[in-house]
Amino acid sequence: MLLSFEDARHLVEEHAAKLSPCGTEEVGLLSAFGRVLAETIHADRDFPPFPRAARDGYAVRAADLARLPALLEVIGEIKAGAGPGELPKMVNPGQAASIMTGAPCPAGADAVVMIEYSKPRENTVEITRGIQAGENIVAAGSEARHSDPLALPGTALNEATIAAAAAVGKSRVQVYKKPSVAVVATGDEIVDIDSRPGPHQIRNSNSYSLAAQIQQAGAHPVLLPVAPDEVGRLRELIESGLRSDLLLLAGGVSMGKYDLVEKVLSDSGAELFFTGAQIQPGRPVVFGRVREKYFVGLPGNPVSTMVTFDLFARPVIEALLGARPQKLVFLHARLRTEVKTKTGLKRFLPAVVSGEFEDAKVELVGWHGSGDIASSARANCYLVIPPDRDRIPAGEWMPVLLRATR
Ligand code: AMP
Ligand code: MG
Repeated sequence: MLLSFEDARHLVEEHAAKLSPCGTEEVGLLSAFGRVLAETIHADRDFPPFPRAARDGYAVRAADLARLPALLEVIGEIKAGAGPGELPKMVNPGQAASIMTGAPCPAGADAVVMIEYSKPRENTVEITRGIQAGENIVAAGSEARHSDPLALPGTALNEATIAAAAAVGKSRVQVYKKPSVAVVATGDEIVDIDSRPGPHQIRNSNSYSLAAQIQQAGAHPVLLPVAPDEVGRLRELIESGLRSDLLLLAGGVSMGKYDLVEKVLSDSGAELFFTGAQIQPGRPVVFGRVREKYFVGLPGNPVSTMVTFDLFARPVIEALLGARPQKLVFLHARLRTEVKTKTGLKRFLPAVVSGEFEDAKVELVGWHGSGDIASSARANCYLVIPPDRDRIPAGEWMPVLLRATR
């Protein structure tokens, strides 16, 4: 069950699409950033609620400006926030009202001439440029009608959807609860980060990189103790992990004699949907389900763990969060220097995107394979190399997977 990258990713997406979110809760709007909306935000009035001037200038009748310059009688001044009693009743032919951005346009006026094209003189104004009816006025209800949906359940709240909630007076919103994601790092050589490793021991970095990625994805990490390469204790920790909404294992999924994760899960009755993907790093990644709980067995090499989380665990977490399914999208940048590699696997190699504006450039960070934490720490993205390319010249536009940061 070694799948192509795309087939493996689609399979995860298909399973994720069937998952239900973990309940809802209410949060204040200031704590809502990054949470997933569990209700529809409706317009509570027309937007804008009145015909809104989009410029500082003069509210006019466009037909009065057919011949230029046009001299108009100024019948009043309307500032933003002016109530109905403060508006001129009607702008009649030959008249104009001075108006500020955000103010309601008075009846009769059908356009706002920018102040730059006006010369005020006592109670008249000379207008030097013609205008189309409707210009610089945002019609009442043109952005949204009362009761229109402005944001739907499953939307991740960003500054724009938070602005929409604020605009309709929702100081509290219903969001989906954060799922809990258990992390079991495995390996006899792995020790806690507070202990001094013996000469052949390695500090547990994977639980911490995963905790960061889980939090960034919007879920709660539950870090369990490190599992030794021993069936009994590994089974116990897997059982504890299955109490969370999703279980992530790191390490122990390769072909070695002491890679026991698959065996222990199979013995517990797990279905394994794939036990490898044609990618580097991360080829031995495992995805499955046991007693209705999903798990992802991430290869233990630290860069493999990080990459396979992004490729295969993130969609499951997003589904548990109630977020609408999202496809993985690669952005493009131009290769700074030639890349030589081998064909056969889709590669996600630590790289740096630089350049500016439309000129995005990408370059590999020199690395020593998927255990190279130091080079990974210098990278801000992964350069995606298709499986059929072994030599890619400098200057070519290449797909990149940006690292999620916040
Ligand atoms: P494994 O996937 O268990 O075969 O591990 C692959 C490599 O990743 C080995 O060199 C491990 O020592 C290393 N490794 C496994 N788990 C961790 C971890 N939690 N933190 C840091 N390195 C790890
Ligand atoms: Mg191991």
